[in-house]
Amino acid sequence: MTFLDIRAIRKDYGPITAVSDVTLAIREGEFMTFLGPSGSGKSTTLYILAGFEDPTKGDILLNGTTLLSTPSHKRNIGMVFQRYTLFPHLTVGENVAFPLRIRRLPQAEISARVRAALALVRLDGFEDRKPAAMSGGQQQRVALARALIYRPPILLMDEPLSALDKQLREEIQFEIRRIHQETGVTILYVTHDQEEALRLSDRIAVFNKGKIEQIGSGADLYAAPATRFVAGFIGDSNFIDAEIVSAAGGRAVVALPGGATLADVPLHGGAGKGQAALMLRPERIDLVPPGGAALTGTVGDLTFLGNNTQVFVDLPGAARLSVRVPFGHRGLEGLAPGSPVGLAFNPSSAHAFAS
Ligand code: ADP
Repeated sequence: MTFLDIRAIRKDYGPITAVSDVTLAIREGEFMTFLGPSGSGKSTTLYILAGFEDPTKGDILLNGTTLLSTPSHKRNIGMVFQRYTLFPHLTVGENVAFPLRIRRLPQAEISARVRAALALVRLDGFEDRKPAAMSGGQQQRVALARALIYRPPILLMDEPLSALDKQLREEIQFEIRRIHQETGVTILYVTHDQEEALRLSDRIAVFNKGKIEQIGSGADLYAAPATRFVAGFIGDSNFIDAEIVSAAGGRAVVALPGGATLADVPLHGGAGKGQAALMLRPERIDLVPPGGAALTGTVGDLTFLGNNTQVFVDLPGAARLSVRVPFGHRGLEGLAPGSPVGLAFNPSSAHAFAS
């Protein structure tokens, strides 16, 4: 049986459809991230799970039983949200103890569990501090300890790190992963940051316009994006206007703007003949001498970035492609802005999308 089963959820606010059709099966202990641009329906889906909102249509089942008839405070779901929601007048220890106090646990057990929860988030000895005397990252860790102290089977996190600077964010991402592994709690995590999603998740659900476009591991989404939107949202990508000459069995013959033809290009979204977008990852392109290459262009700009060099290549007709040449690889010899250059790639590493 599916642990957490989100079935065809829809949410309308008057004329606005925030979530139009979300279906998702989550395994127990899974780290699932909702990734998508602002306004794509991620938080609304999370709020429906939390019980802050009722769906207009659809159902949510936990171990086969609907959650919708259970009020929010009885769903036994932990939550950590973007702004620190600590009580400023209570100490760290009292903040973390709060969920156990309202459940009326004995004092000795509360004290022991507060100590264990603070140890879990590496804040041993901070019991008597007030939140105002702690950094943003520490406050967010207190919020995490408070959400986990009553051992909820599910933890919802809505952009919990977005107010933190990059270094602190990465540090806490690492802590969240460790805590996920140590506790086995099922986590549903909302972010618009693809790097954060890739770093944390077992699987990612990519949201766009109130729907999920694709669900998969970060590696699946990167290697085999199902839609042009996913291809553009996960990782760096180049899109070239092209034409599908023929299509069969999920593969296409694609004509490029310069006249070259590629066979055996993976085809997505069931496109047939006609206008298409060809997607190429910057690291799958090799720079070669211009004669005979599938695409030729002019070097626009070169930037050394340590482990790779980013080269922008202008194709005739205004498209600018990004190419990443790993440090120590051939291809950059003698290149400077203005140099003519050829672009070579394996057609099976490209992706064609209908446009
Ligand atoms: P995300 O979390 O992906 O940024 P949201 O779920 O917050 O997206 O919002 C999805 C869409 O629903 C947006 O267009 C938003 O403006 C709209 N929306 C969200 N909550 C409400 C509300 N209470 N009333 C009206 N519209 C809302």
